[in-house]
Amino acid sequence: MKKILITGGAGFIGSHVVRLFVTKYSEYQIYNLDALTYAGNLENLADIENSENYTFIKGDITDESFITNLFEKYQFDGVIHLAAESHVDRSIEDPMAFVKTNVIGTVNLLNAARKLWANNAEGKRFYHISTDEVYGSLGAEGLFTETTPYDPNSPYSASKASSDHFVRAYGETYGLPYVLTNCSNNYGPNHFPEKLIPLFINNIITNKPLPVYGDGNYTRDWLFVVDHARAIDLVFHEGLNHETYNIGGFNEWKNIDLVQLLCSIMDNKLGREAGKSAELITYVKDRPGHDLRYAIDASKINKKLGWEPSVTFEQGLEITVNWYLNNPDWLNNVTTGAYATYYKKQYLK
Ligand code: NAD
Repeated sequence: MKKILITGGAGFIGSHVVRLFVTKYSEYQIYNLDALTYAGNLENLADIENSENYTFIKGDITDESFITNLFEKYQFDGVIHLAAESHVDRSIEDPMAFVKTNVIGTVNLLNAARKLWANNAEGKRFYHISTDEVYGSLGAEGLFTETTPYDPNSPYSASKASSDHFVRAYGETYGLPYVLTNCSNNYGPNHFPEKLIPLFINNIITNKPLPVYGDGNYTRDWLFVVDHARAIDLVFHEGLNHETYNIGGFNEWKNIDLVQLLCSIMDNKLGREAGKSAELITYVKDRPGHDLRYAIDASKINKKLGWEPSVTFEQGLEITVNWYLNNPDWLNNVTTGAYATYYKKQYLK
C-alpha cells in the first residue's frame, strides 16, 4: 500500500486532486494535510470524507517540528504539494504570509522528505505544484515553455518561483526524487470567490459590480480544474524524475472577452434580458505589477505523457456556472464572515 501526502487538499485544486486519488486508487492511503486557512474548506470533500483510504490532518506546513514528526509517524511514499497562499492581490497586501507558507513551508516539507527517504528513495516522489506566473509577463506573441527563464513580478509569483528553485536544488544537491509542474489559471467548482470567474458569477447572481482591472485587455490561459487534476495524476505516476512539465488549456482569453462571455451565459441561465449582466461591468484601478499576458506551451506533457484537456472552455464554464447555481449554500457559507470584510476592503475602498 502506498501512503500519499497531499498538502492543501481542502483548497480549490487540492480538493479535486484528493477526490481523484481517493476514488481512483483504493489501494493508496491518502492523507490530506491542510491548515484550513480562509481558502481551505472541508465542505469541498464532503462526498469522500468517510472513505476508508482517506485521512484528514489539520496542520500547518510552516511548523517545522510538526512536519518532521508527521513524516516520521506516517512514513509517506509520495508527496503532492499544493498548500500555498495563492491570491496575488493578498500577496500585495501581505507578502510575508506568502514567504512563510510558500517558501518556508515548502522547504520544511523538502527537509522532511529528504530525511525520510535518505537511505532508500526508490519509488518515492516529491511532486511540487506551481504556476505559470513564475515566468513573468509575455508580450503579444510567444508562449511559456519549460525553459523560459523565471521573471516573477508579484510577491505571489516570487514566492512560488523561490519554492520551485528550492525543489530543483534539493533534486540536484541531495538527489531528492521530484517532479514539478507549472500550470495556467484554473477554474471550476469549489473555487473561492476572490478569483475572477467565481467572483463574477457570484456578483452577477447578487447584482454587484463586476470589477475589471485596467482596460480589461489582460490575457490569461484557462484550464478546467478537473483537467489539471488529471494531469497531476499522470505526472505523479508517469512523469520523469527531475523533470518539469507545463500544463495549460490551449485557451487564451482577454479578461474583458471572458467577462462578456460569462455575462451572456448568466443572462441565459438566470432568464435575464440579454446584456443585463454586462451592465454590471465596472473598470477599476489596475493591480500594481500586473502581468499583461500568460500563455502556456503544453506540448511537452501532451507529446510525452499524452495529456490533453477533456472539455472545451464552453463545456467547462457551463459545468462551473451550473455548480455555483446549484450550490447556493456553499457560496453563502464562504462569502460571509472574513470574506465580506476582505471584499469591502478590496473593492469598496
Ligand atoms: P487555494 O488557495 O484554493 O488552496 C490552498 C490550500 O492550502 C487551502 O486549503 C489552505 O487552507 C491551504 N494552506 C494554506 N496555507 C497553508 C499552510 N501554511 N499549511 C497547510 N495548508 C495551508 O489554492 P489553489 O488555487 O487550489 O492552488 C493550489 C496550488 O496550485 C497552489 O500551490 C498554487 O500556487 C497552485 N496553482 C494554482 C493555480 C490556480 O489557478 N488556482 C494555477 C497554477 C498553480
